Formats: sequence, C-alpha cells, structure tokens
Amino acid sequence: MISEEEARNKILDIVRSLPVRKLSISKSLDFFAAEDQFARLPLPAFDNSAMDGYAVIAGSCKKGQRLRVIGEQPAGRDKQLCISRGEAVRIFTGAPVPAGADAIVMQEDVTREGNKIVLNVDVDHGDFVRRRGCDLVEGQKILAKGERIRTATTALLASQGFAEVTVGGEVNAAVISTGDELVKPGEKLEPGQIYDSNSLLLAALLKRCGAVVDSVEHCRDEREPLMEAIKSGIKSHILIISGGVSVGEHDLVKDILRGLGAKIDIWRVAIKPGKPFLFGEIGDCAVFGLPGNPVSAFITFLQFARPAILKMMGATNLDLRKVPAKLTVDLSNDGERPHYVRGKLEHRQFIPVGRQESHALFGLSRSNALLQVAVGQSLKADEIVDVQIWD
Ligand code: AMP
Ligand code: MG
Repeated sequence: MISEEEARNKILDIVRSLPVRKLSISKSLDFFAAEDQFARLPLPAFDNSAMDGYAVIAGSCKKGQRLRVIGEQPAGRDKQLCISRGEAVRIFTGAPVPAGADAIVMQEDVTREGNKIVLNVDVDHGDFVRRRGCDLVEGQKILAKGERIRTATTALLASQGFAEVTVGGEVNAAVISTGDELVKPGEKLEPGQIYDSNSLLLAALLKRCGAVVDSVEHCRDEREPLMEAIKSGIKSHILIISGGVSVGEHDLVKDILRGLGAKIDIWRVAIKPGKPFLFGEIGDCAVFGLPGNPVSAFITFLQFARPAILKMMGATNLDLRKVPAKLTVDLSNDGERPHYVRGKLEHRQFIPVGRQESHALFGLSRSNALLQVAVGQSLKADEIVDVQIWD
C-alpha cells in the first residue's frame, strides 16, 4: 500500500497534457489557457464620458455659470470636437471626450436654456471622465497559461478583440459501474438490490471538472461483459470503473484489466475512505478503479482522478480550494490511513456532518467540504484547520 501523496504524484507523472488548439472565445468557457495572453489595447481605449451630460473645462466652470453648447458628441464616432473656455459639448456615455475638455457635468446637474446650459454644481478636473488605460494598460497580462477561462475572462478577451484563444484539450471519459446488486433508478428493486448511485455521481463529478462523458454503463460482476465494457471504455482518454476493485471473489476488475494488457501502476492506497483504489494504463487510456462505496468513490475521484483530468486539460492549479475554518468538535485519527472527514463549511466553521463511514451517502450529500485528519493527529474544537471545498 502506498501513501496518498505517492499515488497522486505517480498518477500526475503518468498522465500527459492533451494537445492544445485554438477555440472561438464563445466556446472557450471553462477551458484552460494554453498560453499567456497580453492586452493589445488599453482599457478604456480612449478618454470617454462616464455619464450623459456635458463636456467642459473644469478650470473655467463654477456653479451658476452659463456655457455655450457648441456641438454634440455621441458614442461610436469621434467627431474631433474641440472646446475653449466658456463652451460645452453635449456628450453621451462612452463617447470620446472632446479635445480641451477635462470633465463631464451630468445632465441632471445643469439647466438647459436653448443652446446654453447653466451649471447647478461646481466641477472638478476629471469628473466623470474614464481615462484611457485606467483599467488596463497595453501589454499587461490578462490571462496566464493554465488559468481557467471564466465568464468574465471571455468578456475581457472579447473587449480586446480576440476572436479565438489557444486552450488545452478536452478530456473524454467513460464510466462503468460494476455490481450484480445494482439496479437503475426508476426500475423495480428486488430484495437485496440497491440503486446504482455511483454512475450518476461519477458522471456529475466528471462534468464538474470539465470532462466530457462519452458513456456510462452498468455491468454485472461477470468476466465477459465486463471485459467488453472495458474494451469499449478505453477508447476514451480516461475510464472510471466503480466497484469490483477490492479483494472479494466478485472483484474482477484488476484481473480483467491485466488480461487486456493493462499496466497496473497502483492498487491500494493509504486513504480513508478509498483504500482499494486502483490506477492503471491501457494504451493511451488512464484507468481509475474506484471502490464501490459511494463516499470512497467520491473521495478517490476528487483526490486522484480530478487532478489528473485537470492536468490533461492544461490546468495549473490541480487542487481543490482550501480555506481556513474553525473546527467545531474534537477529532482524532488513531487509524493507519489519513481520514477525509465530510463536513459543512458555514460561517467559517467546519462542522462534521452525518456518519463518517464509506457507505454514508446522506452525510456526504449534506457536506460541502473535506478535512483531512492525518494519521496520529488529534485536533481540538475551536482549532483553525484548512478544509478543502468541494462544492
Ligand atoms: P465493491 O467495491 O464492488 O466491493 O462495492 C462496495 C460497496 O459499494 C457495496 O456495498 C456495493 O453494494 C456498493 N456499491 C458498489 N457500486 C455501487 C454503485 N454504483 N452505487 C451504489 N453503491 C454501490
Ligand atoms: Mg461490487
């Protein structure tokens, strides 16, 4: 049995980033940038008005003063207007500030009298002018290699005139749920049977980390069908198998993988829950064998499969987000494996929820964070701990 860290490092050593490609920015959401990107334009690109109002010269303006309106500057076309003292230009939000002007007076703050305005306020240099480059200067880094392209990132790329962006690859995944006891939700349950929840769980986890789910298949604990399902699943970049990786007679996965020529790199990891975890390779496919207990499948997916998928997609940050939180109870681990305790992170407190056993799906469903309690560690209530947020 190897340590969790060794297992993770080994997997990350083995999996390779997929080839990069150019994508239209409209399709780039949630992919990872494959190169640094730099601003081509300053933002704003030119001095412009933040308000509908009048462009003026602040130094020549006082409350009560009358100014002559010499023209109109709408957004969209620079009319190259130029003003002198005693003059104003009617202007609209986003329109270029006329030469000579250095402030905008809101239209609500003037009284219009024919082609004149009377100022109802004092005006300061720079009022309501959005200066060229005040948000972003040309050449500034706007996206780092390995960074996820988020909603606002796509908008920023668009504002810079990018039509395409180079991103990492997309991971395709197949899921196989093994077990004679499993029944599809919606079907009738016979005594001794249970509903297959891992298929849903794993497909959802895959989608959450940006993978495309090619297929989800249930398979009985029988050699032939399992072998056929695996042969088909390894056409994807990754294959996730749930159940059948433990030591019982019905746990056939490892044997079948070997029979198909797989290299089994890892079997059994010091992690609780999730000890029977398996990782192997067949051709270019990375195979993750997750224990069937739902919480074990969940934890091993997040700790081993998720970082591998993110690496394949070109991400820099492979870790779940960690935040400090105040523990609400005493917790200790006198076992032989680090224990992932499921809990609720709320108001900066971490409250363990539900039963902490590998089958206890309800507790997991109420949690949003994980706390790793190391072997021999003894934590006290009110201690500050780092927890991983999974939702
Ligand atoms: P296994 O890893 O195949 O020995 O399964 C361990 C436990 O997880 C057993 O109690 C199984 O019934 C349960 N289990 C296996 N697969 C699933 C699944 N797809 N959905 C829900 N529970 C499962
Ligand atoms: Mg089984």
